[in-house]
Amino acid sequence: MAQSTYSARVLVLRKTKLGESDLILSLLAQDGSQIRAVAKGARKPTSQFSSRLELYSQADVLLAQGRSLDIVKEARLIAGNAALRESMELAACAAPIAELLDRITQPGLEVPKLFDLTETALGALASSDPAHGPAMCAAWLLKAFAFLGIRPSLDRCCVCGQPLACDVGGAVHQTVAFSCGEGGVVCDDCRVSDVAGLAPEALSWSRALLGMRFADIASIEIDQSCVFDVLRLCQTWAQVHASIRLKSLNFLFTCGLF
Ligand SMILES: [Zn+2]
Repeated sequence: MAQSTYSARVLVLRKTKLGESDLILSLLAQDGSQIRAVAKGARKPTSQFSSRLELYSQADVLLAQGRSLDIVKEARLIAGNAALRESMELAACAAPIAELLDRITQPGLEVPKLFDLTETALGALASSDPAHGPAMCAAWLLKAFAFLGIRPSLDRCCVCGQPLACDVGGAVHQTVAFSCGEGGVVCDDCRVSDVAGLAPEALSWSRALLGMRFADIASIEIDQSCVFDVLRLCQTWAQVHASIRLKSLNFLFTCGLF
């Protein structure tokens, strides 16, 4: 019986060795769902797949439907994003993007706009100064949370809905109350003593990165300490709202590259 085939534009999220020379690929499809597929012989140097299905690259693929895993029949490279594999700093910033996608997306579950967001982010990251990498990673995480339906409330109290002024913090508190469990910032009226604090600058950065285009992030002046506060917030957020602890973010926090 002939196998049914289909074509798809994909981003490569993860590669796992299989047997002597094959690879299992986790791929993000254009509709935001995940495709899991085998690329036979992909680890042989002569394979057409070895250079066309690299990590973080974008490709057009022809797939044959399999019982559990689909099989890659053909692949055409669209964007290699080689800098994300060649630069240690950029690789460290791309890894949390791929890890979250690999763990949160599912076969058959569409997430509109997630592919476009990721394609734009990886493209911008590949051509960016490494110092801007953590900010781009943080921006992608915040925007992805929004598309995945777990956007943190950064402008209004997540308990009562009261808008929070921009100059939060001020003389009374050195930090803004932020509750991952409740869903974001908490106003003074709703604040309880055991709510965690967030530096007002880190909240400003979170708001800015959530709304900013990747192309614009590439040209702003970075406060790396604030950006890392935002990344730590994203780590806790993913853990509370998606039960995912991103190992690659832990690496970013401890690698000493930034
Ligand atoms: Zn409130």
